[in-house]
Amino acid sequence: MDRDYYKILGVAANANGEEIKKAYRKLAMQHHPDRNPGDKDAEEKFKTATEAYEVLGDSEKRKIYDRYGIDGLRNSGYRGPGNFEDIFSSFGDIFGDLFGFSGASSGRHSPHGPIQGADLRYDLKISFMEAVHGIEKQIEITKHDTCWTCEGSGLRPGHKATTCTTCQGRGQVIRAQGPFRLATTCPSCRGAGEIITDPCNDCNGTGLIAKKKKVSLRIPAGVDNEARMRLRGEGEGGRRGGPAGDLYVMIYVEAHDFFERHEDEIISRIPLSITQATLGHKLEVPTIHGKSKLTIPKGTQSGTVFTLKGEGVPRLRGQGRGDMHIEVKVTTPTELTERQKELLKEFETIEEEKKQKDGDGFFKKLFNASA
Ligand SMILES: [Zn+2]
Ligand SMILES: [Zn+2]
Repeated sequence: MDRDYYKILGVAANANGEEIKKAYRKLAMQHHPDRNPGDKDAEEKFKTATEAYEVLGDSEKRKIYDRYGIDGLRNSGYRGPGNFEDIFSSFGDIFGDLFGFSGASSGRHSPHGPIQGADLRYDLKISFMEAVHGIEKQIEITKHDTCWTCEGSGLRPGHKATTCTTCQGRGQVIRAQGPFRLATTCPSCRGAGEIITDPCNDCNGTGLIAKKKKVSLRIPAGVDNEARMRLRGEGEGGRRGGPAGDLYVMIYVEAHDFFERHEDEIISRIPLSITQATLGHKLEVPTIHGKSKLTIPKGTQSGTVFTLKGEGVPRLRGQGRGDMHIEVKVTTPTELTERQKELLKEFETIEEEKKQKDGDGFFKKLFNASA
């Protein structure tokens, strides 16, 4: 029997993952057997929708289905949801956020099987210059690592666990919640399906031991604020042979007093005196790489931006560096000596004379325009 999974979910062939999830959620809520007791039709619709979602909601299976159809999927080893238990267990994944339990405890779950360690997060503050130039950092994290005495099983070596009687080893119990019956983690064995009667001495049967660990990080030059680094396998340890989780290092870059950063461009502002701006000036400006010479041409206006090529931040992806932009701000002097005042007054007198000769001054033009 061939089935059009897109038609079943009522989505377009190019629907994205979110649309598919939404469509399935709607159908599942509508046709859930506990909402429609004894309704064979609803049960069938619920099952086919779940089957469709199992395939379209998984990008790998969807690819195979799109290209080779359902037969292609069967040949690849996919057999569809086997029984109702499976449907319940896949429920947690999609409905988890709705009912407030995590996918990890109620999602696809096989008791006795390996458990992957949890991911960890570490917030790291670095200075502006460290981000620009890159740096090696060593951080110390506290994590629950696999207990190697019992290899994460929690069992005293040579001993066996006993099957949990509450859930008969399934790791889950069915619990009523509103109109639904939901599979939740067994409270007696916490989902393990078994009870450890002879716990490992080193980890007290948890399979994990709290440890401090130093982790070295190579932060690349050009890293920006709120960058995230993922260190595979540096998270919490796995249990029963499961892999370790990952460590996510969130990088926060402190601001700098003089330099402002916009991706790989640097912006800074420098003051100029009226004479430097008027007569021109050569000066040395600090850059993130040291210092650089900047020539201010005569007659420079306040707010003019000069660019120093390649004096910006190294590009994290790709080669070379960004540029540095320097905005000049002409400052008006406030404390003048008598001699300076005299000179400026003389300067003003000459300016007035020039205006008289040239005729149209700025204000004259303005008055004419508004008349
Ligand atoms: Zn142990
Ligand atoms: Zn149990």
